[in-house]
Amino acid sequence: MGTLTGKKALVTGGSRGIGRAIAERLGRDGALVAVHYGRNQAAADEVVAGIRAQGGAAFAVHAELGVAGDVETLWAAYDRQALEHSDGADLDILVNNAGITPRGEIEETTVEAFDEAVAVNMRAPFFLAQQGLKRLRNGGRIINISSGATRIALTDIIAYAMTKGAIEAFTLTLAKSLGGRGITVNSVAPGIIDTDINASWLRGNEAAEQSAAELSALGRVGRPEDVADVVAFLASDDGRWVTGQVVDATGGSQL
Ligand code: NDP
Repeated sequence: MGTLTGKKALVTGGSRGIGRAIAERLGRDGALVAVHYGRNQAAADEVVAGIRAQGGAAFAVHAELGVAGDVETLWAAYDRQALEHSDGADLDILVNNAGITPRGEIEETTVEAFDEAVAVNMRAPFFLAQQGLKRLRNGGRIINISSGATRIALTDIIAYAMTKGAIEAFTLTLAKSLGGRGITVNSVAPGIIDTDINASWLRGNEAAEQSAAELSALGRVGRPEDVADVVAFLASDDGRWVTGQVVDATGGSQL
């Protein structure tokens, strides 16, 4: 029996990268996992199949985030599928992971890119949580994926960093609102992780990889599993006394 047996989890952006590793880990721990995706159904289906192949349970949920009606679409899809795969459309663990990283210094950031980052990284997690509250069981978990960019000034992702700062303020405040229900709310802040988000500048570029590795006190670029394991701790009963916090999962970047 896994630490999350009998629990239901929804991981946004569970189709790729960090979200995929989180979905797989929660699945291994015994949760029924809703693997949310935006554009990449094949990737989500692969994650679902992988979890099932390991003896776990999962289903895919589609919704484009950052557009009108996004949250309603996602919850409607979740409700439908959860009822099909379990005894009800309730939820124990919400992981707000889906995100985008617009790149650009302040001078280069367009209103369109800024608005999109706000809509996907900030607005969607807020209203997903808001509309998820009636589904979330007492004693549940909300885990928001933030970024080390709220602690380390990276001028070429300034708008992105701002959205993640907002996620941390949201986490703190929501933890207070939901504490009475025994629900914990935390953020996990990864450093540079080898995922598609960083592929354009990191993969196949030895110099970039080396300088990214040197940022971490542990001397390597992070892997999605490095973050997923921290999320699994917060999702488990072992994490019950941690709430309102930002857990740094940057491998000690820029200490
Ligand atoms: P990836 O680009 O590898 O994956 C992003 C995931 O989010 C995909 O599953 C994608 O789904 C989904 N997604 C993105 N935009 C949308 C959208 N508009 N609507 C619906 N789904 C969407 O990203 P990472 O795994 O690297 O990042 C995950 C989280 O971790 C993000 O919040 C990111 O900011 C944060 N983070 C990442 C770091 C890193 O170095 N990688 C560092 C610090 C924080 P699909 O493919 O189906 O569209």
